[in-house]
Amino acid sequence: MATMPVSLAARLDVVKPSATLAINAKAQELRARGVDVISFGAGEPDFNTPANIRAAGARAIEEGKTRYTPVAGIAPLRAAIAEHSAATRGVPTRPENVVVTVGAKGALFNLALALFEPGDEVVVPTPCWVSYPEQVRLCGAEPVFVPSTLEGGWKISPADLARALSPRTKAVVLCSPSNPTGAAYTADELAALAEVLRGSDCWVVLDEIYGELVYDGFAQRSLLSVAPDLAPRVVVIDGVSKTFAMTGWRVGWSIAPVALSKAMETVQSQGATSTATPSQWAALEALRAPPLELAEMRALFALRRDRLVEGLRGVPGLRCAMPEGAFYAFCEVQGWIGRQTPQGARLDDDLAVAAWLLEEAHVAVVPGSAFMAPGHMRLSYAVSVEDIDRAVARIAQAAASLR
Ligand code: PMP
Repeated sequence: MATMPVSLAARLDVVKPSATLAINAKAQELRARGVDVISFGAGEPDFNTPANIRAAGARAIEEGKTRYTPVAGIAPLRAAIAEHSAATRGVPTRPENVVVTVGAKGALFNLALALFEPGDEVVVPTPCWVSYPEQVRLCGAEPVFVPSTLEGGWKISPADLARALSPRTKAVVLCSPSNPTGAAYTADELAALAEVLRGSDCWVVLDEIYGELVYDGFAQRSLLSVAPDLAPRVVVIDGVSKTFAMTGWRVGWSIAPVALSKAMETVQSQGATSTATPSQWAALEALRAPPLELAEMRALFALRRDRLVEGLRGVPGLRCAMPEGAFYAFCEVQGWIGRQTPQGARLDDDLAVAAWLLEEAHVAVVPGSAFMAPGHMRLSYAVSVEDIDRAVARIAQAAASLR
């Protein structure tokens, strides 16, 4: 096809495509060439969607539930989400507070378009999930990063938060448990952050997509339930993607005060319209009849987390905190930076480390730079225990070859 120069909108000058998806593509390319790549790149469970949920989706198709739905989602799903959120977060929630979206990412996108504009600042603790800063920038607003550290358990302190707030702060985004670190805030830590937030009038965005995936009996709490007085300016982002292994179904939601929900519904009405109809019926089944497989999935993730983190801690040059939740291990690789590979290449940064691990150890990881945390790497343990053991052995062998 003939090509012609494309003149793109200036807003794209500041936006990067998703780096996690790029690593996956490279790993798949190697695999297609017959290389045995062990991939820790994926941000999704490696389990099948449980059978009762699959059946509900198939049944919806057979029953002809294949037309448009209301923009904010089918009524029984909005009702089930409101009920589920009220029960788990302990704050009264009505269906009108809920907008069903194209994945949790769709909910965040609706929110960004509804709220953020040039001149606004959005406070984002780092390391952070790749899409927060990019969505903020797409709207012409500015992300304000608040770094956390491994020593600090990958959590920001109330003082860190207070320093980041300004009269221009439109929102603060908190992701707990976190992608990419797996760190989750305790009720006390959330209460201390809430106290700081009371001194500002900004929106508080709680991304709780990993809320059901916590281990060792960690008591997962929402800032909403710890500080219900902030409810008039809290937006909760959640969905079925991670909890129920439903990433490809594309169902998420926002829970927000009605006026903001209406604005996000308007955004969605001019974009996606709604998410897919059979997917909404499948998500309803997930909430109404949570499958037994959930407990098994959680137990398996806990086992893999221990195995992977302990394995990585045994590799010279790596430092890794024990995450409370999600399915990510976040590892400092500073000890490798500046070293030389047997081929004579210098590992200048975490991007070079990730490329080298993929080429030499055939292990795919995501460089920390993608999450605003250079000098680190993220490993998703949506990978079997056998593959974790094989990968740790390969990483240790590669590390031993560094000069
Ligand atoms: N928030 C976080 C923190 C995530 O990690 C992800 C998925 N990687 C999402 C939101 C988006 O989820 P979904 O697939 O439902 O759009």
